[in-house]
Amino acid sequence: MTTSPVPHNHVLIIGTGFGGIATAIRLRQAGFNDVVLLDRAGDVGGVWRDNDYPGAAVDVQSDLYSFSFAPNPDWHNTYAEQPELYAYLRNVTDRFGLRRHLVLDCTVERLDWDTTEQLWRLETVRGPRTATHVVVATGALANPVIPDLAGLDRFAGVSFHSARWDHGYDLTGKKVAVIGTGPSAVQFVPAIQPAVAHMTVFQRTPAWVVPRHDRENGPIRRRLYRTAPILQRLERLNIYLQREMFVVGFRNPALMKLPERQARKHLERQVRDPGLRAKLLPDFRFGCKRVLISDDYLRALDQPNVTLVTDGIREVDEHGLIDNTGTPHPVDAIIFGTGFQTTRLPLTDQIHGTDGRTMAEIWDGNPTAYLGTSVAGFPNCYLIHGPNIGLGHTSVIHMFESQANYIAAAVSYAHDHGLAVVEPTTAAQEAFTAHVDQLGAGSVWTAGGCKSWYLNDNGRNTNIWPGTTLGFRRRTMHFDPAHHLLHRQPAPIPARVAP
Ligand code: NAP
Repeated sequence: MTTSPVPHNHVLIIGTGFGGIATAIRLRQAGFNDVVLLDRAGDVGGVWRDNDYPGAAVDVQSDLYSFSFAPNPDWHNTYAEQPELYAYLRNVTDRFGLRRHLVLDCTVERLDWDTTEQLWRLETVRGPRTATHVVVATGALANPVIPDLAGLDRFAGVSFHSARWDHGYDLTGKKVAVIGTGPSAVQFVPAIQPAVAHMTVFQRTPAWVVPRHDRENGPIRRRLYRTAPILQRLERLNIYLQREMFVVGFRNPALMKLPERQARKHLERQVRDPGLRAKLLPDFRFGCKRVLISDDYLRALDQPNVTLVTDGIREVDEHGLIDNTGTPHPVDAIIFGTGFQTTRLPLTDQIHGTDGRTMAEIWDGNPTAYLGTSVAGFPNCYLIHGPNIGLGHTSVIHMFESQANYIAAAVSYAHDHGLAVVEPTTAAQEAFTAHVDQLGAGSVWTAGGCKSWYLNDNGRNTNIWPGTTLGFRRRTMHFDPAHHLLHRQPAPIPARVAP
């Protein structure tokens, strides 16, 4: 009996959302052809494939929330909806010739660094693979969380998470409970409120909500963008610069009083009932938790068929939820808008480095990485949307493109200098972490008076990049060999090809 050889690639990218696709394109542009993208699903798209709940849309203007190298003059609205973003990612995949690099329905179960062979060994549902470099582009928001509510298994109705929407279940005329009031719930609550008989929204913490001012991009604007792309580039720059200014405010919480006043006015305009308004007013600084952007969420809560419950959830029984005052809330369906597993980044407890321990074990609840991208003890391994790459104020795609630049620079440096291994030094990683902590000290994220998923159990910001995105772009522009351990290649390496 013959065994088929284990497929080997120069670079394996896990995940085909914005981050994975950006990295693959940058690597191809740098002349690397032997690049394979793996995804657990049957199509590309990441969060924009999975989060197809009613009302799902981006909350950064699409002229900015798109690849710098693939402008789309045809965005239907200021803020694209999920189907358009999903189509955009599929279209970019085709335009940049990535289809032939895809291996889909291929969940990765484990990664081990082989110190002898100096390569990564992967176990996948489709069998083993090896790679010289791996890019973990599984994002921070891949795995939905359903809270462990007492009695949930007894509930006789339907329940699902917003990121796994049950489109086969018709909510029309139903009594529905919504748990959570984050960015996802704020979008699906107004989308389903008119159709349901009654909606009970369980809010744990109110959030600051500001108007969205979404509008349709008319045919003239779209034609102009198509014929004179510079106009869309200028609009992108304009949005970028305006949003970048927010960092100054987020780093100086006292400056947040102005947007707080605007958000209060928005609340007063949308909600007539003073009792309800009081429940919806946050007691922490603007920006501490992600600011919600909506023209219709607050108004939807003020409708006669909606009840906002702020008394917590004691348990679930077969009929519905019981709050902490003992009041029962019978429902037909429970929808969880309760977010994602963010304390442990996806795959980090399946990736084993030079000493055999997993990245999650080494982090022990305090994720850190050099440039948010690579980790000491994990050679030739890169994380897209790693620690401190998240943003609260502008397009995270800007950060992903910066990371993709750095990864392409690192892989190129290794190739051009005949290196088998590049790995950040502990000192470089620690210096970067100290820089992040220093930038974030006194900011709304750490001193804004709220409990958010940006902070770990010790109150350290492990999620948000507290600087400007331009500053991050500058830091990731070049590969710095002085910050890395470098090991020579024992065997000849293949030539690069023209992109
Ligand atoms: P999220 O921000 O984590 O919000 C989860 C919500 O569920 C919060 O209101 C949270 O309350 C509540 N919650 C969690 N566990 C609970 C429990 N046991 N009992 C009661 N309430 C509970 O999740 P998300 O809304 O899905 O958003 C996640 C991230 O996705 C966002 O931060 C954003 O980065 C991204 N996102 C982006 C867009 C966009 O671009 N348009 C849209 C949606 C999501 P607490 O506040 O008290 O924790």
